[in-house]
Amino acid sequence: MKKVCVIGGGAAGLMAAYAAGEKGHEVLLFEKNEKLGKKIYITGKGRCNFTNDVAPEEFLQNVVRGEKFLRGAIYSFPSQKTIEFFERYGLSVKIERGNRAFPVSDHASDVTKTLEKACKSVGVSIRLNEKVEKILSTSENTSTMSDIGIMSRIVKLKTDKEEYDCDVVIVATGGLSYPSTGSTGDGYAFAKTLGHTVTDLKCGLCGLNLTGDDFKELQGLTLKNVSLTVKSGAKTVYSDFGEALFTHFGISGPIVLSASSVINRMPLQALAVTLDLKPALDEQTLDKRLLREFEQYKNKQIFNALTELLPQKLISFVLKASGVSERKPVNAVMKEERGRLVKTLKNLPLRIKSLRGFEEAIVTSGGISLSEINPKTMESKKISGLKFCGEVLDVDAFTGGFNMQIAFATGYAAGSTI
Ligand SMILES: Cc1cc2nc3c(=O)[nH]c(=O)nc-3n(C[C@H](O)[C@H](O)[C@H](O)COP(=O)(O)OP(=O)(O)OC[C@H]3O[C@@H](n4cnc5c(N)ncnc54)[C@H](O)[C@@H]3O)c2cc1C
Repeated sequence: MKKVCVIGGGAAGLMAAYAAGEKGHEVLLFEKNEKLGKKIYITGKGRCNFTNDVAPEEFLQNVVRGEKFLRGAIYSFPSQKTIEFFERYGLSVKIERGNRAFPVSDHASDVTKTLEKACKSVGVSIRLNEKVEKILSTSENTSTMSDIGIMSRIVKLKTDKEEYDCDVVIVATGGLSYPSTGSTGDGYAFAKTLGHTVTDLKCGLCGLNLTGDDFKELQGLTLKNVSLTVKSGAKTVYSDFGEALFTHFGISGPIVLSASSVINRMPLQALAVTLDLKPALDEQTLDKRLLREFEQYKNKQIFNALTELLPQKLISFVLKASGVSERKPVNAVMKEERGRLVKTLKNLPLRIKSLRGFEEAIVTSGGISLSEINPKTMESKKISGLKFCGEVLDVDAFTGGFNMQIAFATGYAAGSTI
């Protein structure tokens, strides 16, 4: 039996503690907040979309960073095992659109309660309001051994209250996003002190700030069936269909959040980002449709001819981007102007300034360098007994329950292989 200390009472830490407890180890879990799973409470708009019920291969297609590293963990502990786990500990689960799994109660707190119940059933001791400040390895503890040729190992953990001897430390401290939930990057500092590399940290699944002021008139406008394309030179780096939403800062919504995770390491201002407002119509069909509308509204100004095609708020914006005056009478619109309008409807340009900040990002992209971690056990290749799981690792995925499943699968791998 080993003495295991888990740092962090979020999705990854709770699952890791459970898995280690199930194996019969003595497990202490430290959470600096007054309660467990503060971030879990706000997931899935308070309903917690805790996994996505798809087969591992399809799951892995939704991983943005770390797909190869996560392969083993996701195959060993796939979404179906997560669902079974929750059901075994009394949570009723429902699957919604897009294979998203939620508690039937629609209360994220029930997910946390179930994780806590599972941990307690295998004897995990939970220490709330206790912040881990330092992890000590043999290389730091000079009284133990010289580490020439010998891999150092974990010996101790220091909190703001006490010191604990331990054989294994599992770091499950999360990333940097929504720091008010306790995810303040402590794990990166521990890792660096212990000789690990932390890759560049960027916001993932976040909105995009737009340049200029003209988009502000669109604030509050939701576009349901549009397609977003991001190009770097001639190369399409992202393209998806779905919902986008204009806000006071720029643009957000599901397809924008996903795009942000893909482009967050690229020079944003050099990217060509466009919205196809009519993805179901090709240019020719759209032109015919415009001609029909123009015929109907031939004695009106062009603004009025577009009211059936576009939401009111968007008409002036699109006409401005096409270089056509909104007051122009329809019967004076030239063929070439109509052509420009068609092109704009299919490729409305958005000028991206920057990503929104960590305060609003759903995940952190970047983290503990995966080349330094054993993907089967989540153990450090540098320090024996040191493990990492969840968002603190350099892994992230799209929305849909994938990020929590990554936390559960890596947490389970860390705890069950001690
Ligand atoms: C608004 C929002 C909605 C989301 N919705 C979903 C969703 O529906 N589905 C989904 O899959 N993903 C969702 N995510 C992402 C998902 O919540 C995270 O990826 C996941 O919870 C990460 O789990 P974790 O355990 O690795 O880290 P965290 O949940 O961040 O947990 C880390 C814990 O460690 C504690 N801690 C940190 N440092 C210390 C220390 N020094 N000592 C003691 N304790 C410490 C923190 O207080 C925290 O409780 C959402 C994220 C946000 C912000």
